Amino acid sequence: YAGKKNDEIFGEQLRKMHVKDYKAVPAVIAETATVYDAIVTMFVEDCGTLSVVKEHGILSGVISRKDLLKVAIGKQELDTVPVSLVMTRMPNIVTVTGEETVYEAARKLVENAIDSLPVVKVIDALTKKFEVVGRFTKTTVTKILVELGSNRDI
Ligand code: ADP
Repeated sequence: YAGKKNDEIFGEQLRKMHVKDYKAVPAVIAETATVYDAIVTMFVEDCGTLSVVKEHGILSGVISRKDLLKVAIGKQELDTVPVSLVMTRMPNIVTVTGEETVYEAARKLVENAIDSLPVVKVIDALTKKFEVVGRFTKTTVTKILVELGSNRDI
């Protein structure tokens, strides 16, 4: 790579990597589940954000740790409040597809100041019908950095 700066090579590498090759398995919860269920699911799945889905895994919203803390400081009964009441909902969800690059996904995390993106397959773009097929998180980005850092050939 005659004369190329290291950061150019690094940037080039990031734009060649695709979300589908690095995404984690989806962490989902049904719309009808309760806030209590969401807290338990977060512990069991060891993650900080859940995709909320309706039938056939269609994305309905996202619920984060802070969304749950917000309800928890209120007086509501956690086992009766449905997640659909406290989640951030479609069409306001920032998503990524498997075909987008790791660079684009990381940029969406930074620009929207969020920890996690649902990785989706577009079923119907017009009505924003997206099927959840994975997740791309800040942890994913950190793992990619460690992998690139340990690769002494590049
Ligand atoms: P936390 O709230 O645990 O710090 P985030 O910073 O990711 O986690 O979430 C901040 C807010 O943004 C929450 O209200 C959450 O519902 C919302 N949010 C999280 N991920 C997304 C996303 N991909 N698209 C839109 N909103 C999101």
